Amino acid sequence: MSITGNFVDGLAKIKLKHVGVNQTPRLLVIHYSVTDTVAAAVTALDAATLGYHILIEKDGTAFQTRRFTESAAHPGLSNWKSDSGVTLGASVSRGSIGICMMNKGFAFGGSPSAPGKLIYNPNDASMQHWEVYPDKLVASCRRIAQDILATYPVTAVVGHHDVAIMGKFDPGPLFDLKGLDDLTPNPKPLGFRTTVNSPDGTLTVREETNSGSKALKVLHNGDVVHIRSIAYGPKADCIHPSPGSRKRYLTRWASVDIDASNTHAGFVNMKFLASTPLDPGLAAFL
Ligand SMILES: [Zn+2]
Repeated sequence: MSITGNFVDGLAKIKLKHVGVNQTPRLLVIHYSVTDTVAAAVTALDAATLGYHILIEKDGTAFQTRRFTESAAHPGLSNWKSDSGVTLGASVSRGSIGICMMNKGFAFGGSPSAPGKLIYNPNDASMQHWEVYPDKLVASCRRIAQDILATYPVTAVVGHHDVAIMGKFDPGPLFDLKGLDDLTPNPKPLGFRTTVNSPDGTLTVREETNSGSKALKVLHNGDVVHIRSIAYGPKADCIHPSPGSRKRYLTRWASVDIDASNTHAGFVNMKFLASTPLDPGLAAFL
């Protein structure tokens, strides 16, 4: 397959209610649907006026909903390796392509005899049964991703959970995201670079986005960190004292890489960093 006129050759088209704006795709975001079929996904998407570019059935049959140079409403509140200007309502929606695979995720219940694989979900701090992705579905997603990477200046393939961290664990632990990201020809290697700057000289990297969670490592003033994304959480954790009303809020906590390995090492409180990619008006509240 290849891409002609911003559509993957040979895919059937589906029209969604949501209409986007012009964009240059720089990020590919992978999702699961929580539904079994594309028909059910379309009903849910239209009810909420949301949309992905690509929807893939479990047997690998894929549909395209719009040209890749039109944005789609798929990541919601989100940020990824931003250089500057992250606001309360930041989203990677404009400038990204969304692929959604038909998969129930962990919507199986917790019984030991439930289908799927029993795996720990760090976001919910519990064991959950995750639906296995069939080979045909994975192969179809990979082919389309390769076409997208060959056509657009995409610098990373990420999961929805990477860009909206501490939200839905999406596409979940059974999908090989790294295998897709490794196909990126010109990756943006690291996130926003800054250093530790704390009154007591140290900064603890934590497992979760709160100061009571498990300490993973202690950094010292001057140590370099790279911010991958800033985490979302409940209203009480919002940076801003009066953030308005949303389902989730931008927190003080950032997912960081601490050894330039381009991997999540844990979370740090951005108050103790020399600089952040936050919009200056927002950074003032740290
Ligand atoms: Zn998603």
